[in-house]
Amino acid sequence: MREVLLAGNWKMNKTISESIELAACLKQSISGSSKVIIFPPFTALTSVYDVIKEGKIELGAQNMYFEEYGSFTGEVSPLLLADVGVRYVILGHSERRHIFGEDDILINKKVKAALKNDLRPILCVGETLVERQEGLTENVIERQLIGGLDSIMNAAALKVIVAYEPVWAIGTGINAKPEEANSVHKFIRNLLNKNYGGNLGEEVTILYGGSINSGNIEELGRMEEIDGGLVGGASLDCRSFIEIYKKLERAKSTVAWGE
Ligand code: PEP
Repeated sequence: MREVLLAGNWKMNKTISESIELAACLKQSISGSSKVIIFPPFTALTSVYDVIKEGKIELGAQNMYFEEYGSFTGEVSPLLLADVGVRYVILGHSERRHIFGEDDILINKKVKAALKNDLRPILCVGETLVERQEGLTENVIERQLIGGLDSIMNAAALKVIVAYEPVWAIGTGINAKPEEANSVHKFIRNLLNKNYGGNLGEEVTILYGGSINSGNIEELGRMEEIDGGLVGGASLDCRSFIEIYKKLERAKSTVAWGE
């Protein structure tokens, strides 16, 4: 079901006490109707859960392995994440793909394992600058999306949230132009319709990610195909994340979307 959603990916930042402080600040100020999910580092998940468990903010993890338990030193499983209150998991983030060499086959295993354990995956897709310059954006998105969702049935696919995150826009201060991002989102919806039949593409929540800040979120949020944002750097500061949240709410209240 399509929903307005703002996700904050804290990446490898924030000690436990800093995480508690940020979560408490967000909890105090987030009161609108749009969904908010925060993704602290693994070490702070339990402490952050204790802060937000009675509020409207939900808890996510930044990654996981696809096995449920066993001899996989250094990995964390969907079962263990669910156990500490996690309900969402980011999979296929460009930093996982490009720094840690994750491919679509591995990411697909993770997406399936997340769904099996009642975690909603946020499947990230996006082209690099070179791929964009070579006109390969749609090819890359298609490979990553269809690969990531391989052999996942319609009902389960509906639970997946897709994040379009052009790699050249992540952490660079250069966001995709709203119209460009909107047309990639439309391409993703069409792909989902084609792959699954029917209108699944219209029902899946698709976020934009890449240098979102309080200055660009309103314009991005006014785009019909963009349901919300996945925010990295600007999610580390309570005031800036709240400002982004409020502006996204305002933008979406003026757009008829998802009808
Ligand atoms: C991200 O890492 O998913 C991201 C979008 O980062 P930033 O907002 O810092 O570009």
